[in-house]
Parts: sequence; structure tokens; C-alpha cells
Amino acid sequence: MQSNIDFQQLAVSGVQKLHPYQPGKPIEELERELGITNILKLASNENPLGASPKAQVALANPLKTLELYPDGSGYQLKAAIAQKLGLQSAQITLGNGSNDVLDMIARVYLDNSRAAVFSEYAFAVYPIVTLAVGAELRIAKANPPDHHTMPYGHNLPNLAAKIDDKTRLVFIANPNNPTGTWLGKDDLHRFLQRVPEDVIVVIDEAYTEYVQDAAFPNALAWLEEFPNLIVTRTFSKIYGLAGLRVGYAISNPAVADMLNRVRQPFNVNSLALAAAEAALDDDEFLKHSVMTNTAGLQQWFDACAEQGWEYIPTVGNFITLDCKRPAAPLYDALLREGVIVRPIGAYGLPHHLRITIGSESQNTRCINALKKVLAA
Ligand SMILES: *Cc1c(COP(=O)(O)O)cnc(C)c1O
Repeated sequence: MQSNIDFQQLAVSGVQKLHPYQPGKPIEELERELGITNILKLASNENPLGASPKAQVALANPLKTLELYPDGSGYQLKAAIAQKLGLQSAQITLGNGSNDVLDMIARVYLDNSRAAVFSEYAFAVYPIVTLAVGAELRIAKANPPDHHTMPYGHNLPNLAAKIDDKTRLVFIANPNNPTGTWLGKDDLHRFLQRVPEDVIVVIDEAYTEYVQDAAFPNALAWLEEFPNLIVTRTFSKIYGLAGLRVGYAISNPAVADMLNRVRQPFNVNSLALAAAEAALDDDEFLKHSVMTNTAGLQQWFDACAEQGWEYIPTVGNFITLDCKRPAAPLYDALLREGVIVRPIGAYGLPHHLRITIGSESQNTRCINALKKVLAA
């Protein structure tokens, strides 16, 4: 369709600077492109055990009443989350995935006179929501690759140095995606003490349920102490409900009130509400998911030690390998083996591949495919 109008020039300036989010390649797309079947996708940090069985059962009820709008307040799910976490419902804001909540936070606290701070290699959604509202990106240098404990990790002094009078938001993913790196309790707490109280700090805990380390913080414990703190969580990862899109923010009730003002009225659908509520209660599935991931991480650590593969330290449900050469051809070669992983050149890591931890047999298949394409 031809037009004399330059629609990029017509867009607001922040959007002109945006690059669209690159999702993991869908299985169906690879089937169409290469005509192969039996594809293994380890590209989007999805749960290899599937969705919580309790959530699947709970879908039957809302399926009977699809003609009705969902509960726009999400009353029951918020009450269930509040009870589970020992908080008040008024502290919770539901989103169509936690990305939706991140977008609401940016719309409430940023505009073209303000800036958001986050780290190099941080989650790709932070620049998107920031630029979409015309705010300035302030990107802090991450730890260098030869750092003694946390290469590629968020560097808190560098983040703090980027905060000034224009800064209204700091985004921190703990653990971070796509690196898997994390911040310890004491360091992160000291950082929060240093941040001015009129700067909102978002701690994105999308993977928190997977983390076993005793020095890993639970940012919810700091909500009383820091009214400027927002914690985000999701049902997409350990609960296995990525396809339904549901996540939430936990904050001071006054902050939640602001977020609710920009929230679209029915942003979480009735299937997602029912499934998430049931999944919250599925302790057995959660336990099994953590065990599978812990064993899978160890399987990868062992394979890396055996093969001499380098990786970024991780506590998530994924591992990011340093291929020591351009990763794009390796990604393509893995696709031809029927294995989808995630190239992360768009994050400034063109030699790395991010791989989701799968079941034992999935990990074995991916490790073997990787050995093959690295040797070719
Ligand atoms: C996967 C992920 C999310 C979750 O996104 P949803 O919109 O809830 O599916 C949020 N933050 C990070 C860092 C992630 O990796």
C-alpha cells in the first residue's frame, strides 16, 4: 500500500526510537518455515511441565459464561493473592501479564519531562514502556564480563549514579532476564535506602519462585519500609499460564490507586482470573516445578563443565551461554535441529544464546544439538 505520508515521522518521537519486542519463535512458525515436526521450544522461559493442573480444571467454569464481562476489579483473585502473601487487596494491581503492569507504571509516573533508569542487559520491556510515553532512557553500565561474582549483573552504584531530579522510575529485574543474574538482600536493601523517596523503584520478580538461594531477597518484605517500592510478579513463568496473560503489581495502596486509574477496565479476562486463582493454590505443582528446574540447572552446569562452555551465573529457569562467536548462525543451525532457543543480540549480547531450562530429556536433546552445531 503506497502513501506519500511518512508514518514513522508522523509518530510521536519516543515511538520513532522504538524497536518492536522480538518474541521467541513460535513452534508453528518453524513448522511452516522448515516443514519439520517434533520441535522443542526453549526460547521463552515457559514451564516444561505445562500449566498448573488446578488452573486447567478451573477453566471449566468461566468457559460456561464467556458472554459475560469479567469482574473488572478482579476481586477474588486479588483477595487470593493478598491472603497468600499476607497483604491487603488494596495493594494489588492486576495486569494482562506483568508487562501490562509495567506499562501502567510508566504511564502513571513518566512523560517527556522525566527519565527512567535501568541496567544494560535489563529486560526489553523497560525501554519499550519508557519510550512509548516519551520519557528519557538512562541506561547504567552493567558489571563487566570479567566481574568476580556477577558478570553482566546489574551494578547498583552505576544505577544510583544515573538517578537525578528528572528520574521518576528505576526498573530492576531480580533475577534479571536475559542474564539470569541477581542482586542479594543486603545490597538491594542498601540501594533502596539511597534512592530518593520520590523516585519509584520497580523490582520485577517474574522468576522469584524458582530461586533457592538464602541470600536472595523477597522484596515484598520491604514494602512497609519503602512506600516508593513496587514489586511485580507473574503467572506466566512458574505457574505455566503464559498463554492466558496475567500478572500483578504489589505496592503501597496509594500507588495502586494511581495504577488503577490508567488500567483498562477489563484488562484481565475471565479465564485468566479463574486459572490464576486456582494456580495460586497449587503448591504441589509449584514444588514439582522448582525441583525440575533445580535439577535441570544442575544438568546444564554439569554439561557446561564437561564441554568447557561458559555461561552467565543464573538462578532463573534459563541459562545464557557465551558461545565465544556470533550466536546467530548457531541459533539458525539449532532451528534446523528442531530446537528453538533465544538469540539476544538485541540486548547487546550477540555472542550469547539464552536457553530455557526444560525437562531432563529436553535438556539432553538441546545439549546434544548444541554439541553438534558447535562442532560443525
Ligand atoms: C517473562 C518476564 C516477565 C513476565 O511477563 P508477563 O507479561 O507476565 O508474561 C516480566 N519480567 C521479566 C523480567 C520477564 O522475564
